[in-house]
Order: sequence, then C-alpha cells, then structure tokens
Amino acid sequence: MGKTGIFDHNAVSRNQTARIYSAQVKTDASRRTADGEIYTYVEARAYMLRNEKNKDLISEIEAGIKKETSVGCSVAAIRCSICGRDLRGGACGHVRGKEYDGKICCSLLCDPQDAYEWSFVAVPAQKNAGVIKSFIPAEGENYESELRDEYRSSILRDASLLLPGVPRELIADICGSAELKSLRSLRDSLRSEAAGKSPLVRQLTAAPAEEKTNNSEYRI
Ligand SMILES: [Zn+2]
Repeated sequence: MGKTGIFDHNAVSRNQTARIYSAQVKTDASRRTADGEIYTYVEARAYMLRNEKNKDLISEIEAGIKKETSVGCSVAAIRCSICGRDLRGGACGHVRGKEYDGKICCSLLCDPQDAYEWSFVAVPAQKNAGVIKSFIPAEGENYESELRDEYRSSILRDASLLLPGVPRELIADICGSAELKSLRSLRDSLRSEAAGKSPLVRQLTAAPAEEKTNNSEYRI
C-alpha cells in the first residue's frame, strides 16, 4: 500500500500518476499458473487525479489501451523452477518457456524483499498483469475508510518524528473523529514539515550510521 504508479519503471517524480490505497492477495481456484499452482494474484486499488494533465491517460485506461502493468521489486533469489538454482549466479542450462517432464520452465522470484513502484509498461514480464477495472467510488464504499487509514498512518508516522512527546494513542484518537478533509490537511502539513526536518528514508535501507558519508542514505 502507498506505492506510487509510474511509467516504464522510470522513477522520476513527474512520472507519478497514481497511488495504491489498498492491496490484497487473491486466489482463483478455477485457474492454474503455467507452473501448475493455483492462480494467485495481487489486486490493488489506486487513486489518481481526474484533472487536465491526466485526461488523456484516463481515456486510455477507460478504453483499455493503457492496460499492462508491472511491479518494480527486489527479491532474495531468482530460481529456476526445474532445478532450483539461483539464476543470478549464472544460467543453469534449462530454457525458460520450454517443457521438462511436463513442467514449463520459468524463473521463480523467491523471498520478496520490497516493492518500489508499479508501472504501466508495453510488455509486462508477468503476463495477464494489468488494469482489471476502473474504480468509481459509489454509495460510500470502503473508499473513505481506506483513505482515512492511509491518512492516519501517515499522520502517526510524521507525528512521531515531529511531536515525540505527544502520545500516539491521543493522535490516533483525534484522527478517528476528524473529518476526512481535515485529516488530509493535517497529513499534508505534517508531511511537508517532516520533509524539511529530516530526509525520510523510505523503502531502501540506509547504510549503518558508522558508514555514513555524503548521501549514503540513498545508496542501494
Ligand atoms: Zn534449471
């Protein structure tokens, strides 16, 4: 949740178009993967601005032209589904897509470490990955409560940095009774305040303190 949507895994801020506010792992027992396992996928909901800048993109999504997506992530190992060898140490001799004793050979992404972003791409690595439906909030669906949760966790995170003396429960309590609009304003002001106070290191692990040099927080 909270991961940003961009294009072609090109992480520049002007590329940011949408943000995920809920994500669930789902299974479809009536389908199987090429590897023979029960079909399992992540269904994520994202929000974006319906404004002039995004007008063309929204039309393309609605028309089904912008459809394929891909996730930028890191994993501990990439293994051959036939022999189990970690392919980052070199090829194993099995050919991806070829059948061995009735099993299709593919690369298995094992032990995921982090997800950085998701992108619209022309050709996704994972076939069938794409936009499954557009979302229009109706009849007070869970939209508000999901947005509320996102604002609250952002407020709690920034408040622990900016207001360390204020009990967490008190802030959570205030968040619980505030209007959505007020929550958003509070989230925005705390966020910009926090950004000025410390360069927040998110997603990537910072180097240990003793190894810190110029910009070492940003080194992967
Ligand atoms: Zn192999």
